[in-house]
Amino acid sequence: MAMGTVWFVGAGPGDPDLITVKGRGLIERAGAILFAGSLVSEAATRWAPPGCEIADSKDMTLEQMSAWLIAQAARCATVVRLQTGDPGLYGALIELVQPLDAAGVPVQVVPGVSSAMASMAAAVESMTLPEVTQTVVLTRVEGRTPMPEGESLRELAAHHCTVCVFLSITLLGRVTSELRAAGWAEDAPMLVVHKASWPGEQQIVRGTLATIQALCREAKIVSQAMIVASPTLGARQWPTLAKSKLYDASFTHRFRRASAPAEEENPT
Ligand code: SAH
Repeated sequence: MAMGTVWFVGAGPGDPDLITVKGRGLIERAGAILFAGSLVSEAATRWAPPGCEIADSKDMTLEQMSAWLIAQAARCATVVRLQTGDPGLYGALIELVQPLDAAGVPVQVVPGVSSAMASMAAAVESMTLPEVTQTVVLTRVEGRTPMPEGESLRELAAHHCTVCVFLSITLLGRVTSELRAAGWAEDAPMLVVHKASWPGEQQIVRGTLATIQALCREAKIVSQAMIVASPTLGARQWPTLAKSKLYDASFTHRFRRASAPAEEENPT
């Protein structure tokens, strides 16, 4: 008998409206859905068809999860594994795909809006700014999962680019000391967003390297939070800003001819 496909679907950061159209379509025709905890239960239950088998993976081991997915794929054409944000970021994606491969179950992945993007959107901040930073690091600090060699926050933050730190709000003290060790100033702006995009529950805390820990303690933020350190933070209030070359009148690109002589070839 032909096996159904297991779709790993990014549910987005929390707001059920932030799932992709493709992801929602798959939920609507799913025979079975395995969702990852409270973060994504709303989307699963809102759009699942009647009779759809729905399970929470919260109390399952990896082996139980893959056994469940394989059993469902033997029974129905469309099985959805719903994960927060994007499935490829801290989502145990490959650990789950390998047993499915071994069982001959076809697998597909639908990307999702990561909480890193949703957190910056919530605060109306840009990850990149011309002549400020053009690079983003998505990382975490060491908890039970060890960091590979060369990936300590101290080393990564030495680039002074935008740094989004996942899974680390309970280790905020370590995050700030690593940033200090990387040469960030005490008044470097920082942002913490709790439950980004969750209707009615989102909290945005702005501070500096010196103040962010106390501010988060005051706001009682101890889980589901994105920590961002970036030289772009607060740029909305800057009086002068280097403009993106893409919209510069002197810059010619594929869709528009320059109205003034070009000074530089590449957009920033
Ligand atoms: N795949 C997810 C990340 C899962 S790891 C993604 O792409 O977003 C879980 C971590 O993601 C949390 O510890 C927190 O740092 C972050 N996170 C998830 N949802 C969040 C939200 N709505 N707001 C802020 N941070 C969130």
